Amino acid sequence: MASTKKVELNKSQNVELELPCIKCLGKTTHNVMVSVDVQGEETDRDWSFQWCDDYQIVECGGCKTKSFRNVSSNSEDYHQISETEAEYDELELLYPSRLKGRKTLESEDHCLPTKIRGIYKETLGALNNNSPVLAGIGLRVLIETICKEKNAAGNNLYKKIDDLVVKQILTPVGASILHKIRTLGNGAAHEIIPHSEKQLGLAMDVVEHVLNDVYIIPTKVEAEFGA
Ligand SMILES: [Zn+2]
Repeated sequence: MASTKKVELNKSQNVELELPCIKCLGKTTHNVMVSVDVQGEETDRDWSFQWCDDYQIVECGGCKTKSFRNVSSNSEDYHQISETEAEYDELELLYPSRLKGRKTLESEDHCLPTKIRGIYKETLGALNNNSPVLAGIGLRVLIETICKEKNAAGNNLYKKIDDLVVKQILTPVGASILHKIRTLGNGAAHEIIPHSEKQLGLAMDVVEHVLNDVYIIPTKVEAEFGA
């Protein structure tokens, strides 16, 4: 068995890629600043296997944020697009990981109580790292923590969410959406049914809205107008 490996520096330098940005909303054009492109081949009589692994430091053309991209493929992973043609499957990993189209509260999260900020960051991490079960549980814990922090009355989460409406922290519409997330967290924890990225994204939108209304806006108003 023989194997060869070739490492090339900056082969994909200045290549432009459409990638989701960490800060900007949606996909933006990223430029490859530096790259290390590795290619290899393993051969054994009538058998051969080729692979490539590209490592790139990329920069968003909009906000200039730098991040890291790794894309790999090999001669075994492909899908047939016609009888005679095949396309190689590429695995793309981005660090820090990100979800396209999600603008987070991270730039204002210093307004959140420490405990809530920690859970929010972990939940966001789970959401961005394709961990739907953990993201569902995180969302539920976030709601539970908001209820506790606001001294919501009731012996279960259902009643506590409703009490946030009585306390005028939540609108009835907001409460009905939180009830959906409450059972969503239940499903993830007890039956291990991961929810889709879209469902979790919507649930996170609602929770972020609540965090914004309950903590971030009042803190900013207080700083601007005084208590
Ligand atoms: Zn950007």
